[in-house]
Amino acid sequence: MYTCQEIPGGKFVLSLQNHVEISEALTAFCLEKHILAGSISGLGAISEATFRFLDPATKKYVDKTFAEQMEITNLTGNISEKDGAPYLHLHITASRRDYSCIGGHLLSARINGACELLVERFPVPVGRRFDEETGLNLYQF
Ligand code: FE
Repeated sequence: MYTCQEIPGGKFVLSLQNHVEISEALTAFCLEKHILAGSISGLGAISEATFRFLDPATKKYVDKTFAEQMEITNLTGNISEKDGAPYLHLHITASRRDYSCIGGHLLSARINGACELLVERFPVPVGRRFDEETGLNLYQF
């Protein structure tokens, strides 16, 4: 699903395999390396992706799938712990063939080309809890 190189100091350089789904591969990586807190940044190319938009009025996500080739101009995210498992929060901006960009909260994206990421592991765990007011799983310090 991926190859990686660990950089001393708690960082990992990752190359995800072509055609894998990014959030699935990142979750597998976090489980394998026992990462429960950290940050993610990266770029790549995808052929299909589902983005989410949280409507604050309804506290519900509205999902939309885009089936087209796009460049990931930025993928940014964080890793925390919820119910004892890695919890990924990912956002993405992607550029289309006409060079315009779309983006949102990333639910899933399938690589078509490459996906190169940097993951930094934090030395202490960071948790989350559900917040009634926003309908979000917020950091719990
Ligand atoms: Fe989000």
